[in-house]
Amino acid sequence: MSHETWYQIKMRAQAGGKHLSGAERMLPQPLLPQQAETLVHRAIFHPRGVPEQVVLKIEKIEPEKIEILDALPVSEIRAASVAEAWRALENLLREEGFLAPEKILAHFPETYPMRGAMVLDIETFQRWEPDFQRGIRVTGMDALDSCQKTAENGKNSFREAIVLATKTAHAPGIVGEICVSDDPGYVTGYFASRRRGYVRISPLKEVGDEQGGRLFLYHGSSEKVASCLDYLEHQLVQVRNIPNLPTPALPRPDRWERLQNTLETLHSAGLYRQVPEMESAPAGEVRFRGQPLVMLASNNYLNLAHHPDVEKLVQNVAAEWGTGSGGSRLTTGTSPWHTRLEASLAEWQKTESALLFNTGYMANVGVLSALCGPDDTIFSDALNHASIIDGCRLSKAKIVVYRHGDLDDLERKIRQENPSRGLVVSDGVFSMDGDLLPLPRWLKICEKYGLFSMVDDAHALGVLGETGRGSAEHWQSPQPDILVGTLSKTLGSEGGFVCGKETLIDFLRNRARSFIFSTALNALSVAAAWKSLEILQAEPWRVRKLQENVRFFCRELQNAGIPVQSQSAIVPILLGDERLAVSCSQQLLEKGIYLSAIRYPTVAHGKARLRVALNAAHTPETLRHSAAAIAQTLPVPLR
Ligand code: PMP
Repeated sequence: MSHETWYQIKMRAQAGGKHLSGAERMLPQPLLPQQAETLVHRAIFHPRGVPEQVVLKIEKIEPEKIEILDALPVSEIRAASVAEAWRALENLLREEGFLAPEKILAHFPETYPMRGAMVLDIETFQRWEPDFQRGIRVTGMDALDSCQKTAENGKNSFREAIVLATKTAHAPGIVGEICVSDDPGYVTGYFASRRRGYVRISPLKEVGDEQGGRLFLYHGSSEKVASCLDYLEHQLVQVRNIPNLPTPALPRPDRWERLQNTLETLHSAGLYRQVPEMESAPAGEVRFRGQPLVMLASNNYLNLAHHPDVEKLVQNVAAEWGTGSGGSRLTTGTSPWHTRLEASLAEWQKTESALLFNTGYMANVGVLSALCGPDDTIFSDALNHASIIDGCRLSKAKIVVYRHGDLDDLERKIRQENPSRGLVVSDGVFSMDGDLLPLPRWLKICEKYGLFSMVDDAHALGVLGETGRGSAEHWQSPQPDILVGTLSKTLGSEGGFVCGKETLIDFLRNRARSFIFSTALNALSVAAAWKSLEILQAEPWRVRKLQENVRFFCRELQNAGIPVQSQSAIVPILLGDERLAVSCSQQLLEKGIYLSAIRYPTVAHGKARLRVALNAAHTPETLRHSAAAIAQTLPVPLR
């Protein structure tokens, strides 16, 4: 532990001048960015409102100063009513030897307006907190395994309560704590002490009641108070062996209301998503809501998704193979089309072998979770596709995120971690920014440190290189150890694939769970991709046309004063604000242009954009007209 750099991170969110949400963690440096994101997410999507201010404070700490404590043991009292629960609490205090429990409890309502806790002397009933309005705030604590065990929104009320209660119970002179949450939906409170442990008591209030407070019971000399307060406010504590949450006390919060609240928050933040239904196949122009539109948002880059030769083949394949494969690849789901396409993909990419997955998403998740485990370190670019992020998480490897496209940062982090096993992973073309991975230098770094190199070329295939072979052709570089692609973009079908050495592919056939435990793609999709690949190779003019379209379109926008550039088919127009992006996209729709607004969580908060995806089928006239319409629609500073 002592070799690592550790940080404490604190989040506080406010709305209407009032505290809305707060949390803190202590963790080693590599886990910091991910936890920071989780805490920001928790602040922004708080069920009780949208924060006006969120403060994140990150401070370096010395891990050797952290005191490790075992969690207090947990027990539970469930009462039939609020009054009965308070009587049970009073009895408990009496059992624990407090001489005047009713007097102690009479002070409890005084804690309701306080943000922190009251410190009450159980002999003199003197209050010891220096600021009576604010109270004492206990900080500098975390669960030992907080990064693994918190819920997705970073919150787990029970675990956070027991961490605080355990620390408080160990402060010099503290002989007990009484707590009722101010959360109107959370009616369980507790009494905690080192002697008695953590006793959950419910219901200590009615649902909907926003009053809660915290009372620390102090017994000792007045000289010792300072060390007690200092411990509460400053001692770093990690709590281990936290038991699992006992079944929630009644009444349970309504599970549907929680979902509804989240949807309402998404609406008000301009982040609500829907599934628009198209009225024609993907192409350079499409029909949508009864209107013909220029399509600037489809990944069907070479316009092969509706090619007559592909359609003809698929009709024949349908007559022979029907519509479903009926089994996984390892049982009955492999047709000759599967084998044939795998051979073609390997030959195209000049690798020994290839393996199909049902989607590109499943390829990334399957490869990363098969190749890496808890003994590995994965170095992942900060802007990698979500399927890579999910694969990293599923692998249980240590995840080290390096700054987007920053190979110096990558190398620094590899040196710092110095892993004995690991993998480096990057998009070849970044899906939301359209920029390229500098493959040759990146490969050299992977090679130098003996790490697997994995590139997701989903947006490079059919787009980069003279013949559309992707990143390796563009950079005239060898292939990475693991090349991932999809059949769903340039190849106009659906499915994903991995290319590499036969050893890799053989390993994946045996170990990649998303390959093993899912029914094989149907022969129609496979044959369609095979035919598209044949057309792509036979007609390299499509790739050249697409590349020409990119140059032409960027120039048109630049001439209109919009600072864009791209070497791939993705041209991002950064707007920042989520609502602005949505409103521009809607205005463009009225002008006959389909251009998606990309928002959180696809990109970071405040980095919303219009993401143009160009197509070989676009004509110069269409592109000129579209660029002019976009320029007219954007707000002035961007023009
Ligand atoms: N990787 C990248 C970079 C992608 O953009 C996508 C699709 N958005 C995928 C993987 C997933 O591919 P599929 O759509 O085939 O699941």
